[in-house]
Amino acid sequence: MSQHLTLEEIHDFKGKYPKQLWYLFLTEMWERFCFYGLRGMLTVFMVTQLMIDEKAANLQYGAIQAFIYAFTFIGGLFADKILGFRKSLFWGGILMIAGSFIIAANPTGFFYIGTCFTIVGTGFFKPNISTMVGELYRAGDPRRDAGFGLFYSGINIGAMLGGALCVWLGQNENFGWSWAFGAAGVVMIIGLLTFVFTQGSLGPIGLSPLKDKPAGTRKGYEIATFIGSLVVMPLILLMVSKTEYTDYFMYTIGPVTLIYLAYEMSKLTGAERKKMVAALVFIVFSIFFWAFFEQSGGSLSLFALYNLNDTLLGTIHMNPNSVNNSANSIFVIIFSIVIGLLWVWMAKKKIEPNSVVKFGLGFLFLAAAFYIFFATRFFAGPDGKTSLDIFTLAYLIITFGELCLSPIGLSLMTKLAPKKLWGVMMGMWFLASAYGQYVAGLLGAGMATTNENATLTEKLISYTDGYKQLGLYALIAGIVLIVISPMVRKLMQEVK
Ligand code: GLN
Repeated sequence: MSQHLTLEEIHDFKGKYPKQLWYLFLTEMWERFCFYGLRGMLTVFMVTQLMIDEKAANLQYGAIQAFIYAFTFIGGLFADKILGFRKSLFWGGILMIAGSFIIAANPTGFFYIGTCFTIVGTGFFKPNISTMVGELYRAGDPRRDAGFGLFYSGINIGAMLGGALCVWLGQNENFGWSWAFGAAGVVMIIGLLTFVFTQGSLGPIGLSPLKDKPAGTRKGYEIATFIGSLVVMPLILLMVSKTEYTDYFMYTIGPVTLIYLAYEMSKLTGAERKKMVAALVFIVFSIFFWAFFEQSGGSLSLFALYNLNDTLLGTIHMNPNSVNNSANSIFVIIFSIVIGLLWVWMAKKKIEPNSVVKFGLGFLFLAAAFYIFFATRFFAGPDGKTSLDIFTLAYLIITFGELCLSPIGLSLMTKLAPKKLWGVMMGMWFLASAYGQYVAGLLGAGMATTNENATLTEKLISYTDGYKQLGLYALIAGIVLIVISPMVRKLMQEVK
């Protein structure tokens, strides 16, 4: 294989996508299968197998999700400083495989231990593969956003398949939970092998930042990182199993990261620093975006459980929760490439909106979607059940919002940060998701009726009132972004 490609040669690719993007696409697709497979099983497994009550399961779910995304910051940091993106990804993959098989060996006994491996493993894996996608493009290449769009559809193919298959295996009498967790592990092996066999095509991308140091010193740092990541597991286990520790963790990690970032930024030139400030603006807004968007795993899934009819387009019978879990992925798969190519086409015509405006549009779509979730109440019958069609329409609109923000955000991190901070900034981007997940849980809990005997209609009113509020906040955020866009663009300088 093209072992000795230079960065120049990679950047000079012809056509719309570099071929390496397809390899990273496949690797990430399998990783997301494993990740979303586990994610899809978490609450069901906790409630039905570990006999945890629903409220506690929701909190624990939020805690695990928040930890997973928070560790991407740490994974990004170690990749930048010590391991490089490739080794980091490899180590993360190994830990994720180990995590899945540990749970498969004894699901009820080893659930939390295995989950800790997945938390740390995803931290080493997830930000760094996205960063490598960014490295495939030269600064200013207008094809970069389309590349992230394609990559994003790979994410969602994996998410859809894993989310559907694993929980099905777990609940199926002929298979069961060991099969379900084992399947996630097997698929992760496929993902890692895909990477191992194709990484030669990446030329110098993702190699160790310490490659010029003596081999002994480099190895020493690497081994310390590997051992360190195993040694922290008991601590993570403790924090995940008691959700109040998650609160402390979330209160601490954000400020600490910002202090660290301020230190790194003090070493940059003025122009570089301005770009980093712009990146932070995007990161802060993304917290709000995910806090609303991630209602899908929480309040919207309860809304689907209680308040939706089970007929789609008048004829198709669908479990509303399946629609809630998969509609978004399916819409992303269909539309992410289309929207990516739309940006390329608009760039050619010189009418492409800049990234700040795209983010703003993302919030406007988000607002429209939440107003549609709110509007479901006008289609409800006296039994408190409302239209699955309208609900699905809201998912279509929210997906457009996601596509204006999430792949663009990944792309932006690699445009705005100086290269030596790419891993950290990608980690920060996902850390925002961690806060989003965390806040999403709090918002969802705030929307639920406190009355245990509430009728379905009362539940409907309570949730949809909440969605109307979220719609309004998203609208305000979108308008603010569009209004401040000239200022943010100034900070971004030549970056679009
Ligand atoms: N769905 C995307 C992924 O899994 C984005 C997740 C996020 O950043 N919250 O990569």
